[in-house]
Amino acid sequence: MANLVTSKKKRKYDAIVIGSGATGGWAAKELCDQGLKTLVLERGRDVKHIRDYPTASKAPWDFEYRGTVPLHLRGNHQNLRRLQEQTLHWALDDNEQPFIQEKPFRWFRGYHVGGKSLLWARQTQHWSDFDFEGPSRDGFAIDWPIRYKDLEPWYNHVENFAGIAGNNDNLPELPNSNCQPAFEISCIEEYFKESLKKNYGNRHLINGRCAHLTDPQEIHARQGRAKCMNQTMCNRGCVLGGYFSSNSSTLPWAEKTGNLTLRPHSVVHSIIIKGRNKHKSKAVGVRVIDGLTNEMVEYYAKLIFINASTLNSNAILLNSKSDRFPNGLGNDNELLGKYVSWHNYRGKANAQFDGLKDKKTSGRAPSHGYIPRFRNVFSQETDFLRGYAIGIGGGRGRKFETEVLGDQLRENLLHAPLGNWHISSWMMGEVVPIETNHVRLSPDKTDKYGIPQLIVSCDWTENDDKMVQDYLDQSQEMFEKAGFTDISVRDAHSPPGSDIHEVGGVRMGKDPGTSLLNSWNQMHLCKNVFVTDGACMVSTGTQNPTLTFMTLTARAANYAVEQLKSKNL
Ligand SMILES: Cc1cc2nc3c(=O)[nH]c(=O)nc-3n(C[C@H](O)[C@H](O)[C@H](O)COP(=O)(O)OP(=O)(O)OC[C@H]3O[C@@H](n4cnc5c(N)ncnc54)[C@H](O)[C@@H]3O)c2cc1C
Repeated sequence: MANLVTSKKKRKYDAIVIGSGATGGWAAKELCDQGLKTLVLERGRDVKHIRDYPTASKAPWDFEYRGTVPLHLRGNHQNLRRLQEQTLHWALDDNEQPFIQEKPFRWFRGYHVGGKSLLWARQTQHWSDFDFEGPSRDGFAIDWPIRYKDLEPWYNHVENFAGIAGNNDNLPELPNSNCQPAFEISCIEEYFKESLKKNYGNRHLINGRCAHLTDPQEIHARQGRAKCMNQTMCNRGCVLGGYFSSNSSTLPWAEKTGNLTLRPHSVVHSIIIKGRNKHKSKAVGVRVIDGLTNEMVEYYAKLIFINASTLNSNAILLNSKSDRFPNGLGNDNELLGKYVSWHNYRGKANAQFDGLKDKKTSGRAPSHGYIPRFRNVFSQETDFLRGYAIGIGGGRGRKFETEVLGDQLRENLLHAPLGNWHISSWMMGEVVPIETNHVRLSPDKTDKYGIPQLIVSCDWTENDDKMVQDYLDQSQEMFEKAGFTDISVRDAHSPPGSDIHEVGGVRMGKDPGTSLLNSWNQMHLCKNVFVTDGACMVSTGTQNPTLTFMTLTARAANYAVEQLKSKNL
């Protein structure tokens, strides 16, 4: 669908969306639904739903290396979280976009149409007012300009379309979702849930909510999506469209309106600004480097949505320098790129259980158990700020005795006895944003497109270390109280970024002196530019954030269209 036309007139659209991942897909859908001729610019190659999932239906024996990636194929593909033969087609060559780690930082990226919506683990928990009110209550960052009630109808809107499996758990710290039936959790998770209920008043193990169709409705059939069949091969790309991705859902929907133009291989360099007037600067378009020819092309629109994923949206804005904005678009307060944050998954715990011997694991489930944050929710209880949610998984495997040969080996493999139940838990902590955790552009190093490299300067604080220790202590205690054995807890000491959910740098707020975007994700100083991916976040919460990013996007896109129609942009 690449549109390589060169005449200036033909490069004019009503709206431009930068990035085709989880949030860009939503911006495109909403803008196209509202009748705007929309150009989506995507730096990576095109990925068509079903056609471009080369490994989706392969059996284990179809993989030459049985799933592992041998050294000679690893090349520079270090950026996938887990490099596997099944998903190697999504791996990005590190030379595509080198960046500078002023301090160790892992940056996981998906550079193709659909972005990381094809790679994600699809966990989708709501935020609550305990998250939106966190910064003002606990005195960090700035107050969010919105509250839960502002997002509630839009959560509903996004969930209805995307399809979320889960239960209504009636917890104030995790408001109910618009749910289809939940996936089952395993016996050991059920057992642990009961143990938590018995031993603690405020710790609830629930079935993690996730973006899978368990009871598809008409709206999903219209997207061409079908029920999830629990294959758990999601990250290869799902031919059923059983889980939500831009490729299976929002982008083909937008395309069907006839209003979408998708241009892959389009590396956005910067936003073009017109006007030096302090109050009347406007974005008129976008400069793009064609990824195949290296030519610079300009595209023009009345409205621009930046959805390139948190750090890239920061990079594009920082690189959008003009006479009016010498330090980057909208950056009069010099806060652009600052207060970057991420999630802290450093803490891990494992144990065994010598019980439930009459039960075994059967089938597969694409989701798992989830314990919403229980530390410092209703009041401050610990010597660190905020808290952590916990992911929980468990099962019962077989004990394979393989140190024999011949018939005995065959017998052992065919009829291996069941082992103990095992359970594992991982921490999902809130990292409090601070000014020194930031990104900025290198003054002298560029990538192969001539775009300045991003310097990432982020580090853990004492608050994070204390939170990890609390998770380890609490996990030990919760597992002991449940009667688990062989308990091990550990701090993985992984560098920031390892846990993917980076946010901030272009935060929302009421005051243009301390924020970049208003309560509608609209730039305070350039009203026709909206930033609606994780870059807009004031703080991280503990929840997997993408549902909230998509919800903010849908809300902002509808607002932007209203503003455009009322000639306010
Ligand atoms: C292994 C893994 C597991 C995850 N699990 C979860 C989970 O369970 N729950 C959850 O909430 N989140 C999860 N996430 C995070 C989730 O994938 C992201 O939060 C989400 O995809 C962000 O959406 P986005 O639109 O901001 O960015 P992306 O989906 O990354 O899309 C950004 C797009 O912009 C394009 N782009 C970047 N720069 C430019 C440029 N200069 N010009 C043009 N295009 C550009 C990229 O190529 C990409 O296609 C997970 C991520 C990974 C990698």
